[in-house]
Amino acid sequence: MADETDESSADIRRQVPSTTVLLGDPRLSEASARLGRPIVKAAVGTAQQLVREGRIGPGDAVHAALAALPAHTAGLRPVHNATGVVLHTNLGRAPLSPSALEAMAAAGGYTDVELDLGTGRRAPRGRGAMAALREAVPAAEEVHVVNNGAAALALAAVTLAPGRDILLSRGEFVEIGDGFRIPELLASCGARIREVGTTNRTRLGDYADAAGPDTGFILKVHPSNFTVSGFTGGVGPGELASLGLPVVVDIGSGLLAPDPVLPDEPDAATALRAGATLVTASGDKLLGGPQAGLVLGVAAVVERMRRHPLARALRVDKFTLAALEATLRGPEPPVHAAVHMPLPQLRIRTLRLAEDAARRGLDARVVPHEAVVGGGGAPGTVLPSCALSIPDDLAEPLRTGEPAVLGRVVRGRLLLDLRCVPQECDSDILAAVLRAAGR
Ligand SMILES: *Cc1c(COP(=O)(O)O)cnc(C)c1O
Repeated sequence: MADETDESSADIRRQVPSTTVLLGDPRLSEASARLGRPIVKAAVGTAQQLVREGRIGPGDAVHAALAALPAHTAGLRPVHNATGVVLHTNLGRAPLSPSALEAMAAAGGYTDVELDLGTGRRAPRGRGAMAALREAVPAAEEVHVVNNGAAALALAAVTLAPGRDILLSRGEFVEIGDGFRIPELLASCGARIREVGTTNRTRLGDYADAAGPDTGFILKVHPSNFTVSGFTGGVGPGELASLGLPVVVDIGSGLLAPDPVLPDEPDAATALRAGATLVTASGDKLLGGPQAGLVLGVAAVVERMRRHPLARALRVDKFTLAALEATLRGPEPPVHAAVHMPLPQLRIRTLRLAEDAARRGLDARVVPHEAVVGGGGAPGTVLPSCALSIPDDLAEPLRTGEPAVLGRVVRGRLLLDLRCVPQECDSDILAAVLRAAGR
């Protein structure tokens, strides 16, 4: 015999709309087509549980399921970067330009990445991206693209220095982040690292003394995330080339030509013209493109790298090739715009936000701020900037809101620097701030 509790729970069970009925709702079946059935089913389950617990009526189940749906299939959420750190490793480094995103979408289906549609025959993979890179750096005889900057170095090591020495100044033993260290990366490729000079000073004679028949190449690594100042001195690629050994220059940030705003940042064209055999760099730092490792330099050496068996394991996909070509040929990438943003323009945008927020009763003002390139580029270079200063208790609701807005908390204030926020998103930032403040 059923007692009263059992009977009432049976009652509720009867009230809970079935999964089939809920999934048959046109709004939820449209969501299934967009997000996939498992995600919608999970949201339906959440709604059914709410009905079962008596927290909503059965008639609200569809709305509850719709409310429980995520906006996107993937868990990666878009973030407004208001930190003033242009290349923020935790935020995925370079944001792509709309034209690069479009190119990636176009490459999403079948695409002629390795086919010449004119002849119907196989063609060099990613030839458009390679041509764009060659044109962007005429000092490079040949170019190649791999998965990232670390992969470019690894491919150089396995090709040019297997079981041989790589000469590296003690001032250039760099940890690039997350515990990964360039000398350890190269050693894992079967090369021996030969330490040269000291932390603060290394001379041409130090390299000459260490060079010998076992030398694979001389490596220059740009200290891209720290500065050493004072009694310092190093040797440039031009002087190193005079030793008659291959010189590989890891410039890191992917600046292809000198940038007057970043006078201390090495660039590919200058290193190659000075006599570097190879330059390696990342695609998603100052170049402002997709994650990639760029290899530029002497044709015979680049070709040997391209034909090395490991090259196949490091090769990039069609999306990377599409985005890289569009970054090189298309309109100004967001990273370049952020680095070169004129301060008066930034101040006007920030003032407008501060006035609008203050009009709604928020404690908001404009303060000077120091933005940085960050993420392995131009260490020690400050980009004079400004920020919207608001109470720091807004940091968490902004960070966890939709869209997420990430700023910097400094001395009890939340600072929002608009340098890396596209101007058309200023109104989104204002709306998010007002929402977070409950206004
Ligand atoms: C960032 C960086 C790397 C690593 O590049 P990834 O693209 O992150 O693999 C290597 N060397 C230098 C000097 C760098 O700045």
